[in-house]
Amino acid sequence: YLTINGIEKSFVNEKKERVKVLDNINIEAEKGSFVSIVGPSGCGKSTLLYLIAGLDRPDAGDIRVAGQKVKKPGPERVVVFQEAGLFPWLTVLENVTYGLKLKKMSKAEAEAKALEVLKMVHLSRYVDSYPHQLSGGMKQRVAIARALVMEPDILLMDEPFSALDEQTRMVLHKELIEIWRKTKVTIFFITHNIREAVQLSEKVVVFATRPGKIKDIISVPSMKDGVMPDSVTLHTEQ
Ligand code: ATP
Ligand code: MG
Repeated sequence: YLTINGIEKSFVNEKKERVKVLDNINIEAEKGSFVSIVGPSGCGKSTLLYLIAGLDRPDAGDIRVAGQKVKKPGPERVVVFQEAGLFPWLTVLENVTYGLKLKKMSKAEAEAKALEVLKMVHLSRYVDSYPHQLSGGMKQRVAIARALVMEPDILLMDEPFSALDEQTRMVLHKELIEIWRKTKVTIFFITHNIREAVQLSEKVVVFATRPGKIKDIISVPSMKDGVMPDSVTLHTEQ
């Protein structure tokens, strides 16, 4: 469904050297699956996510969604970043309906859709609040609602919970899994945290530092009755 095929990407660094950040990356994600990428800082995780989002172009290879080559950003592939990036002068509801202005939709229809996704992230009571009145976890929930309201095929998440405390992160993990089940959206999740990746995903792609190659692909045993596995033995060569 999401096919990442032979992706190569280089950047020129401050010493004017060409550095290969992604070297022959091949990943398949099935429709409705939950795939994570883990790897050390600078290994090219965000670079790959931006390529999938269509925010940048690969030097070689292609990325396809349902057979269609990704060429530019689109509402079917939305990104949730580490920073929620909400508009401080807009309420929660206005932040969520903002993107819908691009779609031909009445205000009432847009608000009804926004309320539906805000309910999914347990923020129905905060629709009229402003971002500064919310905790970090709540802001991230708004960011997720703002992404979901676009009804994306793929939800791209770049370390969405890494700025949150452990307890809030656990709650959001549970909520994200519920959302994933309910909406059947395909999730592509980036994290530093292998434990987080294993708890959330069906498939974990481990990146090596240099030169941006895949080190290992781990299939995670499926969750039984919604219970996340506490520990999974990892067999990654060092
Ligand atoms: P982190 O875990 O710290 O977020 P990452 O795995 O997401 O790291 P990337 O942001 O993908 O890493 O960056 C990979 C490498 O590519 C880094 O060395 C970075 O400096 C370089 N890089 C990324 N984007 C650009 C750009 N637009 N121009 C030049 N170099 C870039
Ligand atoms: Mg990154």
